[in-house]
Amino acid sequence: MKYSKTLIPTLREAPSDADNVSAQLMQRAGMIRKVASGIYDWLPLGLRVLRKVEKIVREEMNAADGQEVWLPVIQPKQLWEETGRWPVYGKELLRLKDRKDAEFCFAPTAEEVITDLARREIRSWRQLPAMFYQFGLKFRDEIRPRFGVMRAREFLMKDAYSFHADEADASAYYKRMYDAYKNVFKRCGLKFKPVEAQSGAIGGSFSHEFMVLAETGEETIVSCTKCEYAANIERAEVKDQYAAPSAASFKPLTEFNTQNKTTVADVAALVGRPTTDFLKTQLYMIDGKVPVIALMRGDHELHEAKLAAAVGSPALYRASEAQYQQVMGCKVGFGGPQGHDGVAVYCDFATRAVLNGVTGANKDGLHADGFNIARDLPGLKGFADLRSATSEDPCPRCASRTEFYKGIEVGHTFKLGTKYSKSMKAEYLDKAQKPQTMVMGCYGIGVSRVVAAAIEQGHDKDGIVWPAEISPFDCAVVVLDEADDARVRPAVDALLKALAAAGLDALEDDRDGKPGVKFKDIDLLGIPHRLVVSKRTLDEGSVEHKRRGAADATRWKLEEAASRLKQALSGA
Ligand code: ATP
Ligand code: MG
Repeated sequence: MKYSKTLIPTLREAPSDADNVSAQLMQRAGMIRKVASGIYDWLPLGLRVLRKVEKIVREEMNAADGQEVWLPVIQPKQLWEETGRWPVYGKELLRLKDRKDAEFCFAPTAEEVITDLARREIRSWRQLPAMFYQFGLKFRDEIRPRFGVMRAREFLMKDAYSFHADEADASAYYKRMYDAYKNVFKRCGLKFKPVEAQSGAIGGSFSHEFMVLAETGEETIVSCTKCEYAANIERAEVKDQYAAPSAASFKPLTEFNTQNKTTVADVAALVGRPTTDFLKTQLYMIDGKVPVIALMRGDHELHEAKLAAAVGSPALYRASEAQYQQVMGCKVGFGGPQGHDGVAVYCDFATRAVLNGVTGANKDGLHADGFNIARDLPGLKGFADLRSATSEDPCPRCASRTEFYKGIEVGHTFKLGTKYSKSMKAEYLDKAQKPQTMVMGCYGIGVSRVVAAAIEQGHDKDGIVWPAEISPFDCAVVVLDEADDARVRPAVDALLKALAAAGLDALEDDRDGKPGVKFKDIDLLGIPHRLVVSKRTLDEGSVEHKRRGAADATRWKLEEAASRLKQALSGA
């Protein structure tokens, strides 16, 4: 491909709204252009990378017996009503109407559409298992589109859905997809980690996120230094590791004036006690009506999803100031867990070990000291894991030390069970001709996000550093001195021919211009190998070879260049 005939509009400076490294470099390298918030044009160079990722994903999906399909991006409302998701999906779902006022949405995912296909076309146990996948545009009206194509509104996803006769088959297939995902990201040349995405029951989780490791990632991963355990911090289990103190050490419960200080940090400073001596009281409402109290150690953060799981209700919201005043009988910041008859109190495991703690006194301006859960909280509902893991928490599986990483979620696998097949009546006839509900799994990869994640992981001060496997080109052939030296053109043509014969993609930089400018662009584009043909190299019958990021260039004989490059790319 000739550089001069290809739209690669490189920029010296990134647009000011490019808010992370990959967004800046994708714009600077002329891979994408922004059209509207979270909506992008993909230019030739960007599309080449996207297609390379797509090819790897497709090969792995086919190897896992997947059948490629193409599902609509415009989906009818009635399918979403069958699963109950139309009203609950909220504003992320872009809804639209046709000329007859029939309602549709723009696909954010395709469980409904594929389950509808399966229930119509799969009749017998003989047709199972079946896995269908597609590369499809998705639209999600994200609250805060950011980081370029990494959190876009329109993006390319590979979504796959599998249908099984029973749980056992669905579980066995889940393991196959898990391995297929590992192959995909390995083949893309990325450093990644599969992490548990559900604080699952013992025996393993059936939802995993695949994280590309990068300092700039939005997700935090807790990973065991010894065993295989890794989880998203949001879901990481924190084991109960706390013993209750002896009642013999309990001091009397007293109240004291905290001079209108309300936060743990302020009160701790006032009384000169560590925040670990504090018990934070947080009030939540189930369905806006039923109050529940969560009690946390002063230095720990409540994790709302964990509280919701402990309470057994997803419709859990933080109480408003008015609700707080009504239930606790005081202003926000002065509430304690004691003395609220009929209000369930959930205590984080860590609170069990707090001896003579400080908490609110349920009176404006006052806090209580000498608080002991065993004595002062007879209405306690129980202890539970309510907080986000910290680096001090041991591995919940083997109790070894854990470490934290930053990551970018590029893929997600779920064992769905019968969530969609039941509500949509996707049934097949078993061997005894009895109707049975199909068991499902679903598996997504954010193909366009993978491109950005690879850049977050691979870049330096000069630009992108692609893993060779997904680089837009295997090499750049930089043509110099063409106007002054008649040997250059035939040499370049011979080299390009040899590269093509070796199955290598080359970007021919045939532009007029200074060598330095051309080299800067090739570095910015991140192409792993650069071959220069110039008057000087031809005087020696050679080309100059430089690996992206290497300090020095070397000379290769012109006629050996293609085979040497092939060797270099295959890691030999
Ligand atoms: P996130 O937590 O990042 O919002 P999600 O849980 O909503 O992701 P899934 O519904 O599991 O994502 O979608 C499958 C994959 O699609 C994700 O793993 C991710 O790689 C990709 N993806 C999701 N949302 C976006 C987006 N707004 N822009 C680009 N890719 C996305
Ligand atoms: Mg999302």
